[in-house]
Amino acid sequence: MSDRPAIPTPRQPAADSDIAFVGGGFRTTTFLSSAPGLLRRRIRVYERGTTVGPGGFARYRITTTSIGSRFFKHLDPSGPFASLARSRALADVVHAEQPVAMERLATALTALGGTLADALGPEGVRLGSAVVAVHADSRQRRVVLQLSDGSTESARHVVLATGRTERPHPELARWRSKVLASGTVISVGHRQDVKDRLLAAAGRPVVVAGCSHSAMSALQTLLDVRAELRSEHPGAPLPALRVVRRGPARLMYDSADLARLGQVPGRERPFDPVADVCPATGIVYRDSGLRHQSRALYCALWAGEVPGAALVDAPVLADAADGFDEAALIVQALGYHGRAPDIHVDGVPARPGDSPARLLADDDGALLLSGTAHPLLSVLRVEPTPLDRRDDTAYASDLYERLASRLDRLVAPVAEVGA
Ligand SMILES: Cc1cc2nc3c(=O)[nH]c(=O)nc-3n(C[C@H](O)[C@H](O)[C@H](O)COP(=O)(O)OP(=O)(O)OC[C@H]3O[C@@H](n4cnc5c(N)ncnc54)[C@H](O)[C@@H]3O)c2cc1C
Repeated sequence: MSDRPAIPTPRQPAADSDIAFVGGGFRTTTFLSSAPGLLRRRIRVYERGTTVGPGGFARYRITTTSIGSRFFKHLDPSGPFASLARSRALADVVHAEQPVAMERLATALTALGGTLADALGPEGVRLGSAVVAVHADSRQRRVVLQLSDGSTESARHVVLATGRTERPHPELARWRSKVLASGTVISVGHRQDVKDRLLAAAGRPVVVAGCSHSAMSALQTLLDVRAELRSEHPGAPLPALRVVRRGPARLMYDSADLARLGQVPGRERPFDPVADVCPATGIVYRDSGLRHQSRALYCALWAGEVPGAALVDAPVLADAADGFDEAALIVQALGYHGRAPDIHVDGVPARPGDSPARLLADDDGALLLSGTAHPLLSVLRVEPTPLDRRDDTAYASDLYERLASRLDRLVAPVAEVGA
């Protein structure tokens, strides 16, 4: 053994955080409150908005499709979250066995997000911070987050929890100048704009493209706005509302027997007893079927019972081109895409944020790039449920548990590193 002193290896500066969450909305908040043990790491949440908790739900003035209690089914009311037992806003939704007004859900999530932010401390939350790119470096075992103000920070692991968005649909490109996304139509901030547009339509129709929950939520908003205009501007010509459906709808039933008894030819798609029944609960069309208020509105629309609104069949959107030409406004309700910053791996662009490909993840939340799970990057239910799994209650039901144990394994608390 040489008695020369060892040359010290240059120490890499510590990353700014152990686990960085990009997006501080519903997923990040409910995930971290399901796994209080993870808070032993230095967690940092990057949220481009002004609050941790409600995410997109704060924008909408509609009723949820899920029952209230479902949103908080993973909550672990221990450690920093024990005080939530006294939160009336949270209890209000946690015990709701019916859908709730999104405003109530957003208030409950704001309470939960506030408790989480307190637990993380001032270093743990970056509000008004939009992450535009993440650069994973396998050799250094860290990820650099690039923010919209040009600054960068680093983390040992990054979880993308950036939610979903509606992208301009190519089949509506011809009418782009008069298309609004369904999420815009139902949002609180655009209510006046929608009202102005309905008045300016001067009697020309408004068309909703799509026949999903989003479409029915948009239709309900348009009906409400039109009713307000009718009383504020008696005698003004107001638009007829049309909903373009590409095929018979899917309605949710509690069992296959009820589906067989209740189905109406032409109104809804006949169910396939193998593909459409949830293997875990036996519920028919669990995720994708219209339910609650959306179901009731669709059925009334189909039966011609909604004054001034009608259903139009168009197997492909181009079949409804004349209606789109005539419309003063088109509401796009044709589905959501995951939203994500640009992803780079070892200096090479791996996935641009506007990639047409879905942001895929393994069952434990590991980001999948070309089919391979990435050790430094995770994804928290960014994309909508894949089509082939959407009626399966079991899908992602253990994701929070599996992601928490994966992060626990991969990112040891700093004091334990090298111990
Ligand atoms: C109208 C509507 C109704 C819905 N109803 C239901 C329902 O009843 N039940 C249900 O289970 N699901 C429902 N969903 C699906 C819903 O999107 C998800 O369940 C839930 O909002 C997803 O949570 P999230 O955290 O992924 O997204 P969000 O809650 O939207 O949070 C994402 C957060 O990330 C932030 N963010 C985004 N990009 C960046 C960035 N680059 N840098 C920093 N921050 C960023 C956003 O500001 C936001 O706060 C509905 C969706 C919509 C649009």
